[in-house]
Amino acid sequence: MRLITNLEWSKEAFDERLRFKTEPVKRVDPILQQLAVDLLEEMYNLNAIGLAANQVGLRMRLCVIDPAYMQGEKMPIAMFNPEVVEHGEDFFVSPEGCLSLPDVGVRVNRFRNTKVKFLGLDGKEYTIQDDNSLLSSVIQHEIDHLDGVIMTDRVPDAAEVHYKNTQSS
Ligand SMILES: [Zn+2]
Repeated sequence: MRLITNLEWSKEAFDERLRFKTEPVKRVDPILQQLAVDLLEEMYNLNAIGLAANQVGLRMRLCVIDPAYMQGEKMPIAMFNPEVVEHGEDFFVSPEGCLSLPDVGVRVNRFRNTKVKFLGLDGKEYTIQDDNSLLSSVIQHEIDHLDGVIMTDRVPDAAEVHYKNTQSS
């Protein structure tokens, strides 16, 4: 797996592979299960709390997350075909970083309450309903990736993009 990054950040010239809309998987077979496990391993190697398949050049609707990793715990979640099916009206400001945009930090408006459906590693359908800001923002960040959207797209003014250390996903 090779992480796609753009050290010379510019919205226009960003690596187009991150702009592909990913394809949903039909069913979770052993090959896809192994891929999700590999993606999780890569995420931990990169010391991140989320990673989307197209960040390593794979064009499928798969992301892995583990917000608990920020507190030194491991509660990995693999999500195939994740989709926000409901969200509340409230937003919160989420400070975010992204592995694909090293050293860039932004403050992004995210929905506070989300209900997300996905297929888990075992191929069964799961729903996460959440109003915890970190889990909710990580999921929204990764689903954005799978739709070809990067966090800086969510910032209306380029002056609000700054360079600093934040947790990456
Ligand atoms: Zn990212």
